[in-house]
Amino acid sequence: MNADMNPTAQAMHGDAASAGADAGLVLDRGVGIAPLLRIEDLHVSYGRVEAVRGVSLELPAGSIVSVIGPNGAGKTTLLAAAMGLMPSRGRVYFDGEDLAGLTVEDRVARGLCLVPESRELFGALSVHDNLLLGAYCRGMRAPASRRALDGVYARFGRLAERRRQRADTLSGGERQMLALGRALMSSPRLLMLDEPSLGLAPLIVRDILGIVAGLRDEGVSILLVEQNAHAALQTSDHGYVLETGEVVLQGPAAQLAGDPRVQHTYLGGGTDE
Ligand code: ATP
Repeated sequence: MNADMNPTAQAMHGDAASAGADAGLVLDRGVGIAPLLRIEDLHVSYGRVEAVRGVSLELPAGSIVSVIGPNGAGKTTLLAAAMGLMPSRGRVYFDGEDLAGLTVEDRVARGLCLVPESRELFGALSVHDNLLLGAYCRGMRAPASRRALDGVYARFGRLAERRRQRADTLSGGERQMLALGRALMSSPRLLMLDEPSLGLAPLIVRDILGIVAGLRDEGVSILLVEQNAHAALQTSDHGYVLETGEVVLQGPAAQLAGDPRVQHTYLGGGTDE
């Protein structure tokens, strides 16, 4: 490396992460990259109740962006609108394309995928059949769905072991793995995860969010909605705080985790460990 370089130039050259850390910089993954998802001034209502009020958000390709906030803040509603499950005002762009007028199926075909809070598994069906339904939704042909299945079983050994087992006999963590695995069957470019930690023990939350971070490292972009602010900010690159339908704070995840307002309201000295 050129010894004359200033610290910032050094941080942008070679081992950027360690140079950045040495220089005390907070590196923000995806900065300068065109966003894969861009939401502009989104409004969503249930009758006369406006649940999402003018939310704007950007998700750089290859990053994890988390949305944290209390019960009823509008997090689930935001994901539902981005997926086309609810009518909304405002704009949602995916890879530069305005998604207005596109159906849920159109959005799935472009690479969006939502894993809802309820997981939406078919309890009476086997693990295997639940996974196949993921391929069916994408209209995959048999060879492609076999390849996708092999990929999911290679990633989740536990699901491979339990492939003949009914989904309703799985543990909470295994169900979340199955919901993630089914989503991966459609080879998504953007995974939207609604409260993947809900109802899981702390060690399992760590495993699941570790898997989510691994997916990001393989190039899948993630929009992560969580009430578990500590775990979400530890896992993500950038974060937004949503309260009563509005973004009240946003920033690099490490910076948000250190913000006194976030610490006071959402971190409260507690951890997930
Ligand atoms: P939670 O973590 O509790 O799911 P959230 O941040 O995801 O909270 P939403 O579920 O999006 O919040 O709800 C946002 C607001 O919209 C809340 O005031 C909620 O009561 C309201 N709401 C949600 N679903 C409906 C519905 N089907 N009909 C009417 N109001 C709704």
